[in-house]
Amino acid sequence: MIHVLCRMRCFKPYSPFGCFVSLSIELVVKIGPKLQMWVVEDSDANEGPSQSMSFGLQCCLQRASNAFYSAIQEFKNNGTKLETVASTDANTLAKNKFEEKIDPSSAKMYFHYYGQLLHQQNMLQDYVRTGTYYAAVIENHADFHGKVVVDVGAGSGILSLFAAQAGAKHVYAIEASAMADNARLLIAGSPSLSQRITVIHGKVEEVELPEKADILISDPMGTLLVNERMLESYIIARDRFLVPNGKMFPSRGRLHMAPFRDELLYGEIANKALFWQQKNYYGVDLTALRDKAFQGYFSQPVVDAFDPRLLIAQPVIHDIDFVTAKEEDFFEIDVPLQFKSSVSAGVHGLACWFDVLFDGSAVPRWLTTSPGSPTTHWYQIRCLISQPLCVLAGQPVTGRLHMIAHSSQSYTVHLTLSASSMTPDLNGVGGTQTSTVELDLKEPYYRMTQFPAYAWFQQEQTQQPVSSSLLLRYDSV
Ligand code: SAH
Repeated sequence: MIHVLCRMRCFKPYSPFGCFVSLSIELVVKIGPKLQMWVVEDSDANEGPSQSMSFGLQCCLQRASNAFYSAIQEFKNNGTKLETVASTDANTLAKNKFEEKIDPSSAKMYFHYYGQLLHQQNMLQDYVRTGTYYAAVIENHADFHGKVVVDVGAGSGILSLFAAQAGAKHVYAIEASAMADNARLLIAGSPSLSQRITVIHGKVEEVELPEKADILISDPMGTLLVNERMLESYIIARDRFLVPNGKMFPSRGRLHMAPFRDELLYGEIANKALFWQQKNYYGVDLTALRDKAFQGYFSQPVVDAFDPRLLIAQPVIHDIDFVTAKEEDFFEIDVPLQFKSSVSAGVHGLACWFDVLFDGSAVPRWLTTSPGSPTTHWYQIRCLISQPLCVLAGQPVTGRLHMIAHSSQSYTVHLTLSASSMTPDLNGVGGTQTSTVELDLKEPYYRMTQFPAYAWFQQEQTQQPVSSSLLLRYDSV
């Protein structure tokens, strides 16, 4: 417990008109990321009796809590400092939102990656993705015609050009990486559109625009929808730039999750750890690291395109409305899982994919990354469990997918799957089989060498061919 006695001037939070009052911070208690503050209004600062109040501050990150606490300490040594912080405007606060939660070294690598043309090309060459955006914009040109558009994370500028083709009055293309310069060059190559597009080099959290947007367009989706944590920037851009009731392209995302069986994949991953089973590797016993290696391999989400017939139950869907979601909603995502197995099988883990909706006023259109649909550069994600479950047809499988955002622009994923046991326990009572695993979405296993194993299924489809040059999005670096 730490006591801070000092005087500060801050915006009176409980005044409907907003006025400055002089407050004394009596006490700050720090418990992990939680802070509790007691403040007293100075009697000489305002007429009437002085008031005191207590409020709790829940910082989502330990780092934010520490930073706030340090600011209080700093104020103790320099009374004018906190006044600037306390009276700071909303834009300055928004500016800090990215830096507050993202590790600078992660951000540097991230924007370096997107600053390279080859990675922008990778997305452009995902014809399922780019073609769906194009169709969604052109079919719904009325949503863009004569409108002010903001392209959130413009990359090469392709979506800005689509919006301008659809007749946008003006497009602000905001891009934080060095790709902004290339976007300018690309856009200048289309003089009939370029006068209506302004490229702005900066983060959506910090740049200023001269006017509000009628519609936002963006591709902020990472693997498992939320990887890269760019959806949070999309939400911040909505709050900063979009007019009330403005449109968002996309406006909604759905994460689909279903249990799967795949002995081949399970064997492949388990076999990797067998290397550490050797007792005489050049005279060295490796077995001390066997369990760690086993755990390490199972902590990597597997990225590939799989045959949908490997799924053993209908998926659970987690729906996210980008129009109403708050930035904080993405800090922790907790999905209860409940399935009914359609077959008797071994359950090897949870398969996940997503889709997003372009809710155009003429033609609503979904962009899907589901197994069995034409493959995108997001592929699908599978989280393996190290102890497979055995289930009978019709048996319920329950569990939880708990994802916690981290400062490296990704998530730690906690997965639990359970089913009742087919064999009674020692007391003759039916037991439960439970398997849990922790995965880091930032460290995927990119299993594209196995892709041809399921390629026949794609060929059965009459849809667009799959580009063999497809690479994963950001996490392939
Ligand atoms: N819109 C392009 C690029 C999509 S990739 C297309 O559809 O092809 C996402 C882009 O958003 C990357 O170029 C990345 O650098 C940019 N980006 C990510 N976070 C951002 C942020 N906070 N502010 C501005 N740009 C951002």
